[in-house]
Amino acid sequence: MDPQATWDVLLQAWSKRNWNEVAELSESLLDWLAKGGFPPETNYPKELGVDWDSAVALAACGFAWCRSRNVLENEHGIPADVPFSLACTKCLDDGPKSFDDATQTGWSQIEYYPAGKAERFIGLCPACSQRASKP
Ligand SMILES: [Zn+2]
Repeated sequence: MDPQATWDVLLQAWSKRNWNEVAELSESLLDWLAKGGFPPETNYPKELGVDWDSAVALAACGFAWCRSRNVLENEHGIPADVPFSLACTKCLDDGPKSFDDATQTGWSQIEYYPAGKAERFIGLCPACSQRASKP
């Protein structure tokens, strides 16, 4: 295994919200580290030492694995341990404060979006949804 390549692909998978890949890669890296494998350089090009890299890789992979499992195990892809805050991808309006309220009021395409600045979920509000469906 190339832990550096795995780490780099893991970060890309996280930013692309490819949760199956995040779960798989973080588990591989955790196994690798548990068997005494050398860690990836987590803050390349800064060289912070193997102890730092091990600690960061372990913590990040543990977190990424848990979060990806929570997304994958929820039927709507909504991790239960993340506070719900929603914004429309088109008009940026804020949505209701719960997934159930959002779906009941006509929001669609709701997705966990951890790389967002403020809101943690994105979706399509009822108004933008209507606009999109008109010819
Ligand atoms: Zn909207």
